Amino acid sequence: MKYADTWDLESIFPGGTKSEELQKKIKSVETDIQAYQTLLRDWDFQEDPSVTTFKNILNKREKIAKGLGQSSTFVQMTHDAYMDDEHANVVMGQIMDLFSEVQKLSTTFTKKLVNISDEDWQKLLNDKELKEISFTLNEMRDEGKRLLSEEEEKIIAELNKDGLAAWSRLYDTAVSIMTIPYKDEDGKVTELSVGQAMNRMYADPDPQVRKQIFEEWELAWTKYAPIFADTINHLDGYRITLQKAHGRKDHLEEPLEYNRMSKETLDAMWSAVANNKQPFLDFLNQKATLFGMDKLGWQDVDAPVTLEDAKPTRFTYDEACEFVITNFASFGPKLSRFAKHALESRWVEAEDRPNKRPGGYCTSLPEFEESRIFMTFSGTPADTSTLAHELGHAFHSDVMKDIPSLNRQYAMNVAETASTFAETIIGNATIKNAKNDTEKISLLNSKLENATAMFLNIHARFLFENAFYEERSKGIVSEKRLNELMVQAQKEAYGDRLSCYHPHFWCSKLHFFIDDVPFYNFPYTFGYLFSLGIYAKYLEQPEGFEDKYIALLRDTGSMKVEDLAEKHLGVDLTKRDFWEAGIQLAAKDVEEFIHLTNEVKNK
Ligand SMILES: [Zn+2]
Repeated sequence: MKYADTWDLESIFPGGTKSEELQKKIKSVETDIQAYQTLLRDWDFQEDPSVTTFKNILNKREKIAKGLGQSSTFVQMTHDAYMDDEHANVVMGQIMDLFSEVQKLSTTFTKKLVNISDEDWQKLLNDKELKEISFTLNEMRDEGKRLLSEEEEKIIAELNKDGLAAWSRLYDTAVSIMTIPYKDEDGKVTELSVGQAMNRMYADPDPQVRKQIFEEWELAWTKYAPIFADTINHLDGYRITLQKAHGRKDHLEEPLEYNRMSKETLDAMWSAVANNKQPFLDFLNQKATLFGMDKLGWQDVDAPVTLEDAKPTRFTYDEACEFVITNFASFGPKLSRFAKHALESRWVEAEDRPNKRPGGYCTSLPEFEESRIFMTFSGTPADTSTLAHELGHAFHSDVMKDIPSLNRQYAMNVAETASTFAETIIGNATIKNAKNDTEKISLLNSKLENATAMFLNIHARFLFENAFYEERSKGIVSEKRLNELMVQAQKEAYGDRLSCYHPHFWCSKLHFFIDDVPFYNFPYTFGYLFSLGIYAKYLEQPEGFEDKYIALLRDTGSMKVEDLAEKHLGVDLTKRDFWEAGIQLAAKDVEEFIHLTNEVKNK
């Protein structure tokens, strides 16, 4: 093997989760937190208006964040790669306690910023280093202006554990004990977990299997729905109360602010999607025809298309690595060189073995200014695509590593820019390299799964969530009404092209129950289209684009998205045309899919 498929944990902290070095690090962070607490407590800007003290505080804050990040990432990495490591949870508990200490201090810090007069604040920001991070500092201070008294915020944080966070936890617990019965050909009934059932329901090649599981699925959610209706009402009721207490005028203000975008941009994006759906509805129709159906059911939208028994091409890990490096080079030398470096330096854990958690992610080791990638590589084109996706994330962090860390915190909606971009490069290359039309069709189908998720499924989620918040702010919304709102949203988003809908989708979709941020859905569509829009710009003028692309990525943590797009792409996000350019790219895949499937059908 040219590229090792396991990552190197020893070079981070030797000795695994029982590492002495790790314990030393945790101790040193603890000491730093105490020092930070004292610094903060004693800091009175009126008495000591010096830039130096303020910078000391910022530096301490950063040092703590890095130490905590380095330790928690390491423990998470070890836990995910070796799920039987029981000690990981113990150490993680230790680290989480420190995180919550820091969390409490962050309110104190923000309050201190708010207490500085506007005039003094402007003077402070005249300092060269502080000016550089003024966007983020202003953002923190403005956010702080919404806060209630320190005492009140402390109580809210405490109550949150048994409120917002608890509702979210309750959801997870209820889902973990749910099962969905599945009867196989021999009449034997197996109880599937929610995760297992979902995989088969959407991905099984047999439409009868998908249909059977979907019917049982809807029944199971119906049975538990009264619990989930309570949960979603209280979770979002809690949120609405808190938003009001913080002086917010509506339920979209917080998620928009968090994503550093305006309502006009969100409206322009959804309006572009709503007005350009036809190709994707044609795609659904074509799939229905291929499956010999009149219309697709909800459960058929993502079903695989395998026309003859075409064996999909499989890659070894080395081949996948070479493929990614080579095709990244067709875009730009820097991305390609970076990928090669990451793969050679054992930043990637990809081995297919038991005892690893499922899924993939990219995480960062802030003290090394490096990323690490977790995934399981089993040889499919989708795995190569995951590898490219995660390397895209790692590249995003890498190009930002020399800028002040406060300017590196990008929001969710731009977080997927570099990963989607990398995935697009590799996805297109994989389709181009397909050995025959049937393989090409199957690859295009998987690629379009993404587009239909972004334009149809997530659109439905947004329409539902928006309507739900409207009604929830006036009172409790019944299960029956939740179902109605959901089916309405699905019919609108899918142009009424499906033969059946999923009324209880509001309880089966875990995203509606996440407590960290409200509206967990639209940032995905934003990120996907933002990235495709950049890709469209690249196709217009490929020469020298890599440097422009890097310059854009470097600014993702320190600008409003409208300014970012204006500065680097010369486009106005509040207008539909930028969004439409991205949608057109995805629509081209539909054209090719329909063309190829017609040819194969007529053979
Ligand atoms: Zn990602």
